Amino acid sequence: MIPNSALLLFGPPGSGKGTQAVLLADALRLPRISTGDIFRQHVKDGTVLGREVQAIMQAGQLVSDELVNRIVESRLEQPDCAGGFILDGYPRTVPQAELLDRLLERLGKSRVVVNLLVDYNIIVGRITARRSCPVCGASYNLVSKPPQQDLVCDREGAGLVQREDDQEEVMRKRFEAYDLQTLPVLDFFREAGYRVVEVVGGNGAPEELTAAIRARLDEE
Ligand code: ADP
Repeated sequence: MIPNSALLLFGPPGSGKGTQAVLLADALRLPRISTGDIFRQHVKDGTVLGREVQAIMQAGQLVSDELVNRIVESRLEQPDCAGGFILDGYPRTVPQAELLDRLLERLGKSRVVVNLLVDYNIIVGRITARRSCPVCGASYNLVSKPPQQDLVCDREGAGLVQREDDQEEVMRKRFEAYDLQTLPVLDFFREAGYRVVEVVGGNGAPEELTAAIRARLDEE
């Protein structure tokens, strides 16, 4: 990959994008900037900003472009970003993409977009099989990591439960929202001449996908 790059990572909910961001940051020795993590930290610390965004996040809505842009701008000016960085969860709207474009121009960063393509049915299959123990919080997957006894926690013997947002209908709504928000952002970057690398993910190990992404990044 070209040094001093901004790597912009996109992928639908449940695609493992967050995991890839962590693995890539590690492999490429770049800081990972996740707007979701930044906001969650503020909520946890009870800052003024945290109090402002808490209700918005709980309602599953987007924080205003103005606020997100301000946060990202000051973060990208930190010294650890001088040699490049990975953006995870930003930009999510065209106004965010426009600001970022100007900012990267000013910071003199080359740009590459990585778009993870994962079949929505594969994601639904994996996520709807998730269960957890309401007592100890242990997580299971009915397909890939089933409990010893059907639907019962190995440790606690309690009946396993499914998270509300792991249900198929909820997931389909999130994909719809993702398509609506993200496709225009990707179009913006294509039109602005960014290199957009599409990588197909799915059932393999996360490390395999990281290797595939790195190979594609090294192609040019
Ligand atoms: P999720 O998959 O729940 O959207 P994230 O960790 O990416 O997870 O973000 C958590 C929340 O933080 C979002 O639901 C939204 O309220 C806020 N947020 C994160 N990034 C952005 C962004 N780029 N623009 C607007 N809101 C954001």
